[in-house]
Amino acid sequence: MDKQKQYRFLARPAFKALVKGLMKGHKVYGTVKKDGLPAWSEISEFEDLILFQTPAHLSAKEFLFPPRETLLKFDITNNTCEAVVVAEDQAIIGLHSCDIHGLSLMDRVFSYGAPDPNYLEKRKRTVIIGTDCFPDAYCFCASVGTMDVEEGFDLFLHEVKSGFLVRVGTERGGKLLRKFTNTRAASAKEVKELQEQRSKKESSFVTTLDAPAEDLPGIYAKSNDSPVWDKTGSICYGCGSCNTVCPTCYCFDIKDEVKADLTTGERVRVWDGCTLEDFALVAGGHNFRKGRSERLKHRFNRKFRYLSDRFSALFCVGCGRCSRTCLVKINIAGVTNELIRESREK
Ligand code: SF4
Ligand code: SF4
Repeated sequence: MDKQKQYRFLARPAFKALVKGLMKGHKVYGTVKKDGLPAWSEISEFEDLILFQTPAHLSAKEFLFPPRETLLKFDITNNTCEAVVVAEDQAIIGLHSCDIHGLSLMDRVFSYGAPDPNYLEKRKRTVIIGTDCFPDAYCFCASVGTMDVEEGFDLFLHEVKSGFLVRVGTERGGKLLRKFTNTRAASAKEVKELQEQRSKKESSFVTTLDAPAEDLPGIYAKSNDSPVWDKTGSICYGCGSCNTVCPTCYCFDIKDEVKADLTTGERVRVWDGCTLEDFALVAGGHNFRKGRSERLKHRFNRKFRYLSDRFSALFCVGCGRCSRTCLVKINIAGVTNELIRESREK
């Protein structure tokens, strides 16, 4: 499609009208400033929103896949159990391109095999408004093909001097624009400004991977005995922070919590993390990945190799959150570049 036709121009007051309109019928989440940094929060005042920034510390996955969620309630006095699916109309404003790719991967995961109603119902009722962003020292989306996004959003906003250029991704997005605000066709000058911005962004990455994305599963497949794993694992705390912040880590544990009456209770799921010590602990006390090196190797292979066998996509979207958050500065891009270097020396 002609680039210019893809974009509509949205003036700043018109964007405010859109957000205020959404607030009337949706719970609205967006990024706000907390301790000087962008962080996800529910928004009640338009003025609190800060957009077009570097990534927030956490991803927005918690709004679709909460850290703790009741799946069913049971009562053994009458042998009943009732599924619990909690979902409401909500909007997430300010997802970056990498995060929208992450969300599309989560959609595939939770639709695969037995579709997960708890996630999918929330997803269906969630309006996604993406926004452009600026890479910091940890971002490497340009190396894994997630710097641009063409689908997975209802609306996507790019900031230009005079306001915003907006792309409509779904019929729902188009309807929201028409209902709450006015747009006009973008001018050639505005689209040119956007293209120049994009080129600047592409050349501004501090972190890049030294091999094409499609080579990474093969490089990881050859890295099983690499000394990198022991070296990196020896400093890893096994704290699970990298799993928590990652937009594509979706592992969970299921627990039955019985109330004090010993007859009623709930089945809950809670986030789990493959870098935690008891993740691969099974009945009888055997732990399939007791060592931190093994767990770290497993996590990185999940991102660059194992899941790409199943879904034909890398499960690292290059947001840099795990590296940004790691207390001992284990950097997923740095480790991957070491493996790339080793694979070339073999
Ligand atoms: S890599 Fe870093 S964040 Fe992840 S478990 Fe190890 S110490 Fe924690
Ligand atoms: S593995 Fe790290 S860089 Fe990759 S998507 Fe997850 S948090 Fe982002």
